[in-house]
Amino acid sequence: MRTVTLIPGDGIGPEVSEATRKVIDATGIGLEWEIHQAGLPAIETHGNPLPDAVLESIRRNKVALKGPVTTPIGTGFRSINVALRRELDLFASVRPCVLYPGVPSHHEGIDLVVVRENTEDLYEGIEFEEGSKEMQKLRGHLKYMHGFDIAADAGVSIKPISVSATETIVRFAFDYALRRKRRRVTLGHKANIMKFSDGLWLETGLRMAEQYRAVGFEEMQVDELAMWLAHAPEELDVLVLPNLYGDIISDLCAGLVGGLGLAPGMNLGADYAVFEPTHGSAPDIAGQGKANPIAMILSAVLMLRHLERPSEANAVEQAVARVLAKGEVRPGDIARGEEPATTQQVADAIVDAL
Ligand code: NAD
Repeated sequence: MRTVTLIPGDGIGPEVSEATRKVIDATGIGLEWEIHQAGLPAIETHGNPLPDAVLESIRRNKVALKGPVTTPIGTGFRSINVALRRELDLFASVRPCVLYPGVPSHHEGIDLVVVRENTEDLYEGIEFEEGSKEMQKLRGHLKYMHGFDIAADAGVSIKPISVSATETIVRFAFDYALRRKRRRVTLGHKANIMKFSDGLWLETGLRMAEQYRAVGFEEMQVDELAMWLAHAPEELDVLVLPNLYGDIISDLCAGLVGGLGLAPGMNLGADYAVFEPTHGSAPDIAGQGKANPIAMILSAVLMLRHLERPSEANAVEQAVARVLAKGEVRPGDIARGEEPATTQQVADAIVDAL
């Protein structure tokens, strides 16, 4: 029997996790769930939002399914999600965006994948606070060494982009495209403005693309990419983006295919894989049975494919698609006038459709 780590998370996390477990168990796959708390419940029990036991469990099982966790503001804890990605070297965030029939959207036929670099860029946390001594020193240094003038009341965040991390993620995007017989990789950047970070990203990407002639390739300024996503998203296929643009564009893509409640995701590294919905802990609806569990259920579908259980994965995805196409049971975030279904009712309908 295969064991996977299950982190229910907080906010709506436990509700959508429970619904997901019910659906996956109903396939008869017989997964053993090793449940670990992270986030707010772990602060209460362990004084730490990411206890060592969580990391040990993922290292042992190699695979985790994770609900969203709140990043507490002003408590001194940095994002658990960022910490998890760093500890396990989950260098790629992959978010498939498929528009299922029956889901309200302004578009048709969307089937794209956002591949986001997960380890560097503005997420490295190299920051200088406005008014701090370090910021003063940095201003002085930049003025003296390079003649740059930074406003006295500015704060600064630094954006490192390396050749090595870019090679890793671009190679990953091309391999992903090849394995899944996708048409084209589009590399987004802003190289005309940030020559030494995005410029390096673009230059490295172009060099990598030379090695993958079997897959189509194009580079595109990220602002133009945003325009194309709003205008003709069905024309885009695999997008590869640095960390921050990837974050923004993947939420944009979630919006194109029905919203956060339908958007699954996975974080992959060489050794470990953590599957989680794109959405956060949604404190505004937590504990009310209103959360849409489909993003988490589709994240579990991605996990089943990773575990090489395609028949169970396909069965669950088709059951989700049938429920969405029928339109009789719709959670609040995609209900259009009809009585919204509860998290539990959505899970039950998917189990019935299996
Ligand atoms: P959010 O995704 O939690 O919520 C944004 C909006 O979408 C809210 O109105 C919410 O009700 C709605 N929503 C989200 N998921 C839904 C679902 N499954 N069904 C129905 N409606 C849903 O984003 P936020 O409010 O910016 O973040 C809340 C907390 O979650 C923050 O602490 C943030 O740091 C954290 N967060 C965690 C993760 C993660 O664990 N991977 C990801 C994003 C945000």
